[in-house]
Amino acid sequence: AVALDAVSKSYDGRRVVSDVSLSVARGDFLAILGPSGSGKTTVMRLIGGFETPDSGRILIDGEDVTSLPPERRRVNTVFQSYALFPHLSVLDNVAYGPRMQGLSRAERRNKAGAMLDLVRLSDAAALKPHQLSGGMQQRVALARALAADPAVLLLDEPLAALDRKLRDEMQRELRRVQSELGATFIYVTHDQEEAFGMADRLAVMREGRFVQEGPPAEVYDRPADAWVALFVGSAN
Ligand code: ATP
Repeated sequence: AVALDAVSKSYDGRRVVSDVSLSVARGDFLAILGPSGSGKTTVMRLIGGFETPDSGRILIDGEDVTSLPPERRRVNTVFQSYALFPHLSVLDNVAYGPRMQGLSRAERRNKAGAMLDLVRLSDAAALKPHQLSGGMQQRVALARALAADPAVLLLDEPLAALDRKLRDEMQRELRRVQSELGATFIYVTHDQEEAFGMADRLAVMREGRFVQEGPPAEVYDRPADAWVALFVGSAN
């Protein structure tokens, strides 16, 4: 579980994240939705430990991680660019991913094999990344990010580079993997359809604040204000 408690962050005197509080339960799939520049990526970077808040606290599974560096947080991130190691096999990419350091070689390879099963890539274990399609590479990146059993997985526009058809397929795949593992996902997207279709909860962000948080149907049917109604397309 993840909690933000009154977190703020400014750049050059301008508040980009403004007194934000949020809690995401274990096993939840939260999507953060908002216009460009509203602060979504900054929230993710704060949770991941790539930025430090000016004020407020960040808790992961009850532990205050506010001043811990990324490698000491049980958080992994899937980016739009998969950043796989080109010279390693698919299996080794997963086995030598972030936060696998504490495990023996055998444990890593076991974990990696199980994760490749989960994303249905067991047959590709010995291949190199360049031998895979974009969608398959994205699944390797997902397996790698999940292998170390993070308390939360951050996904920042992970499907933005894929074409429509692959995107639909990966949306289903992400959702399936998340629910099979009971993993906690925080997902940033521009794509309203994607957010509404995939998430258990939505957080709508505007100018550094969460203006509404709740299940998709509630956000759609009972928008907090006229701006949210317009943004999610339920205004009439
Ligand atoms: P997008 O959907 O376009 O990715 P976003 O909602 O993720 O936008 P952020 O990337 O969090 O928004 O950026 C919020 C604001 O903070 C933007 O105005 C951006 O220019 C600014 N910003 C982000 N990072 C920095 C930085 N390192 N230094 C200065 N300003 C920054």
